[in-house]
Amino acid sequence: ARAASAGQQKECVKVAVNIRPLITSELLMGCADCVTVVPGEPQVQIGSHSFTYDHVYGSSGTPHSLIFQECVAPLTDALFNGYNATVLAYGQTGSGKTYTMGTNYASEANCGGIIPQVMETIFKKTEAMKDTTEILLRVSFIEIFKEEVFDLLDPHLHASLRAEGPAGAKPAVAPRVPIQIRETARSHAIFTICLEQKKINTCSSKVAISDELGDDIISAKLHLVDLAGSERAKRTGADGLRLKEGIHINRGLLALGNVISALGDEKKRKEGGHIPYRDSKLTRLLQARESSLFS
Ligand code: ADP
Ligand code: MG
Repeated sequence: ARAASAGQQKECVKVAVNIRPLITSELLMGCADCVTVVPGEPQVQIGSHSFTYDHVYGSSGTPHSLIFQECVAPLTDALFNGYNATVLAYGQTGSGKTYTMGTNYASEANCGGIIPQVMETIFKKTEAMKDTTEILLRVSFIEIFKEEVFDLLDPHLHASLRAEGPAGAKPAVAPRVPIQIRETARSHAIFTICLEQKKINTCSSKVAISDELGDDIISAKLHLVDLAGSERAKRTGADGLRLKEGIHINRGLLALGNVISALGDEKKRKEGGHIPYRDSKLTRLLQARESSLFS
């Protein structure tokens, strides 16, 4: 709920549109772009309708990294100031969610997505802070498919990535493991970064970790989510098993929509109104406090 860039922004929820170019198979089928971007405006036109967002990307010439710089880098900075945030990639299957998030990051060739860029930024920052701050960095990568939760990282490897104070030179990075997302179209993939910082007391001759707890520790969490395809169950011609999957996935997306509406409802928030986090695994996971990722 405190999604903000260093407390500067009033809006809790911001929406950016990333329009992907037509892919080869679409060009071969003779498809043409149906979306135009209004130059200089965060606005798109489809036929006679126009829609305005906080940001629009994807008109030819905008670099892929701009979406990271403008939308996600401020949240990465805010993470270090103790702000929680969530980035959600929403759209129908094939619209470019995985590409944009970098969820299938497997080689240097496709490191332009949001997740690798966030991690690179975090490692740079922690490296620069390591003499003054003890940093505990943990990541998890979880898939929700049919309301079941799967750990996409080898449980033996993912436990903690720890950047020590002066003693440890570099943040320890878990070996890269081949990640199999089993049902990319119909599952939610949630990459979560938990960052805890503690100032090192450098006054004493021997460098010691300050043992005053409480205000000395800053901890926050950034969720980067590649959501399941937003196409509706009935549109996929689904029946039987497929339909059941569709219903489950809709539960996550539906609950997410309801949570976002409730959070965006200022009146409701001020009155401490009910936020329906518990309606799906996805929303429970995004709400979860430290220890409860698998509860
Ligand atoms: P989704 O995850 O929403 O189902 P993908 O990320 O898999 O969609 O993208 C579908 C196809 O479009 C992939 O072949 C991907 O490489 C391509 N694609 C997506 N976004 C872009 C982009 N911004 N530029 C070029 N190709 C893209
Ligand atoms: Mg995908």
